[in-house]
Amino acid sequence: MGLEFVLNELQALKDHALMREYKTIESAQGPYVQINGKPYLSFCSNNYLGLADHPKIKQAAIAAIHQYGWGTGASRLVAGNMMLHQELEKKIAEFKGTEAALLFPTGYMANVGAICALVGREDIVIGDKLNHASIIDGCRQSGASFRVYPHNDVSQLESLLQKSSRYRRRLVVTDSVFSMDGDTAPLPEIVQIAQKYDAILMIDDAHATGVFGQHGKGMIEYYGLERKIDIIMGSLSKAIGSIGGFIAGEKCLIDFLKNKARSFIYTTALPPAACAASLAGLTLIQEDTSLLDKLWENVRYLKSQLSEFISNISAESPIIPIIIGSAEDALTISTRLYENGILLPAIRPPTVPLGTSRLRVSLMATHSKEDINKLINTLKPQIAQIAQKIKL
Ligand SMILES: *Cc1c(COP(=O)(O)O)cnc(C)c1O
Repeated sequence: MGLEFVLNELQALKDHALMREYKTIESAQGPYVQINGKPYLSFCSNNYLGLADHPKIKQAAIAAIHQYGWGTGASRLVAGNMMLHQELEKKIAEFKGTEAALLFPTGYMANVGAICALVGREDIVIGDKLNHASIIDGCRQSGASFRVYPHNDVSQLESLLQKSSRYRRRLVVTDSVFSMDGDTAPLPEIVQIAQKYDAILMIDDAHATGVFGQHGKGMIEYYGLERKIDIIMGSLSKAIGSIGGFIAGEKCLIDFLKNKARSFIYTTALPPAACAASLAGLTLIQEDTSLLDKLWENVRYLKSQLSEFISNISAESPIIPIIIGSAEDALTISTRLYENGILLPAIRPPTVPLGTSRLRVSLMATHSKEDINKLINTLKPQIAQIAQKIKL
């Protein structure tokens, strides 16, 4: 049988506590979700502001369905381009402080499409070791030479740039907020170095959009780096509570990607209702920063509580990892939490490096203090049980 290897590989995953399975959510995506008829407190959603189930976003999507229907029936360049795509791209550009923006069906496709369009065989792309999988896939597929520097190591980035002057184009790419560690890239330094070596700079602002900066515009707002970064990638699927990815930058970049990015050209346009939901999400964030304030209040509160029994808790963002080490231990704690009504999956290799399996807490503005207390009180005895073994 030709597929025998599939069974063997699945067994190997099971043997190493690396088998992945999903749970089925029977409710909307809120701080509580229903699974098998029971409520679970969720600490693993990227829905940072709780917008995925926000009344204004639901209303916007429903109104768009009434007016424009659901499907688009074609790619943007053929006949799928609708008014709401245009409106949303204008809004994204305004939000990110760039001339223009281009929508992709997902953030994954934005990264792969943009990187493959920008660099090829004669070029080099240099990225952080912990960059998101979609960036790595783009780098590999592009055919460009691909080098990584140790996580956030700016001097290693510089030395790679020093050694790469023979290439036609040099692209530097980094997450602004790292998705599995929740820490942030030293963007001002990276901007300086990219400028010094005349490299193109691209940042992935997926976890910063709607989360960082005074008005939630992302890492560019946070650091005041408007117009200093050539290519800003983001996702509408996280804090914005919708679906879709984008690239923001100069108009010439956007025109170029429209013509060259295969994951833009050869795929069907997003449903207009998805664009309406994104527009409503962005408007809501611009008009009212109270959700953003509540999110950061939750981050500070959880950090202070966790720090009482775990050392070195870093909480630079709403993603707060608790590094456990072995996949088995991380899975055991995650299972115990689940038995106690808390959804907090163990993140294991290959998503994170071997020996750094973790519980990755992500917070939402809609979590209450009581919700966070429940997590702490359930987690504490579990951590204590394996504390000596894992030296937390
Ligand atoms: C989620 C994520 C993406 C992909 O975005 P989607 O819209 O979910 O496809 C890209 N980069 C990073 C850093 C992410 O966390």
